[in-house]
Amino acid sequence: MLEYENNYDEFSKRCGLYKKDMILPLFVDENDNFQESNVMPGLFKVPYNDLVQSLEKIIECGIHSVILFGIPRLRNNKATSAYSKNGIVQKALRLIKSNFGNKITTITDVCICQYNKTGHCGLLKKAKNVIVNDLTIELLSNIALSHAMSGVDIVAPSSMMDGQVQRIKEKLDTNGYKKIKILSFAAKQSSSLYKPFRSETFYDKSAKDIDKSTYQVSFYNPRQIEREIEMDIHEGSNMVMIKPAMASLDLIYRIKKICKLPLVVQVVSGEQSMIKAAATFGLLDETWFILNLISALKRSGANMIISYSSLNISKYLL
Ligand SMILES: [Zn+2]
Repeated sequence: MLEYENNYDEFSKRCGLYKKDMILPLFVDENDNFQESNVMPGLFKVPYNDLVQSLEKIIECGIHSVILFGIPRLRNNKATSAYSKNGIVQKALRLIKSNFGNKITTITDVCICQYNKTGHCGLLKKAKNVIVNDLTIELLSNIALSHAMSGVDIVAPSSMMDGQVQRIKEKLDTNGYKKIKILSFAAKQSSSLYKPFRSETFYDKSAKDIDKSTYQVSFYNPRQIEREIEMDIHEGSNMVMIKPAMASLDLIYRIKKICKLPLVVQVVSGEQSMIKAAATFGLLDETWFILNLISALKRSGANMIISYSSLNISKYLL
């Protein structure tokens, strides 16, 4: 960064990278303490009571988009706290909207894996690992509706169930929420890079090593990834997401060529942890590398980037 030490504006313009491109993930925790993550140093889980203060800081840094992941106190097999009117995400949305209005764009993760005891993104039949797709998409549509009723701007279904976007769109439209946008996790690849996130969000540690390969897409099959994206666009998605980011630069470039919708990518927990670990051992400069990586994602075709480092790099961006 030395070459731009006195002129970060120039750096921002040259990279085509701005604060408005960044989305910060926020873990909103129904438990009471403001805690640093055990598995991802530097990541804080924000309790409901500290949410307003945390958002003031985020807005002060010039970041105006957050994606909320809930960490509920209650978990059960039907994931009831995921769509409850008084669930942690629903309460957080109302609090954010009443305090900040349009100053912040809220995106919510729509899934059940943090709210059930299996850690799976779909409801399971009694026989293990068999997902009941249709019941799950009904549940997801109810979660999305509960977020809409609490003031969300964009819902982001991430469970990779077939038909999830279409069912959510129907549910939102018929209940008068046509303006709510859908950001589909259209190409969530099966990957070992989600492990820190899972370890952090599952209090039931036995559930963290679970196989989601039957519903997530394979990284070695780019044609399938393209098909998943085409399907979500056809079902009514307004924006699409690819993750993990670092190992998908070719896919981002490829998808941008065929997709006119805004493309969002996420630097996931495993990628963030790798960078952090390397920096801790003095192997690289963390900020410099993250700026390098995020510039590469922009160059590849991403319009917006979800990054745990959004706040840390904001001072380098216009
Ligand atoms: Zn999930």
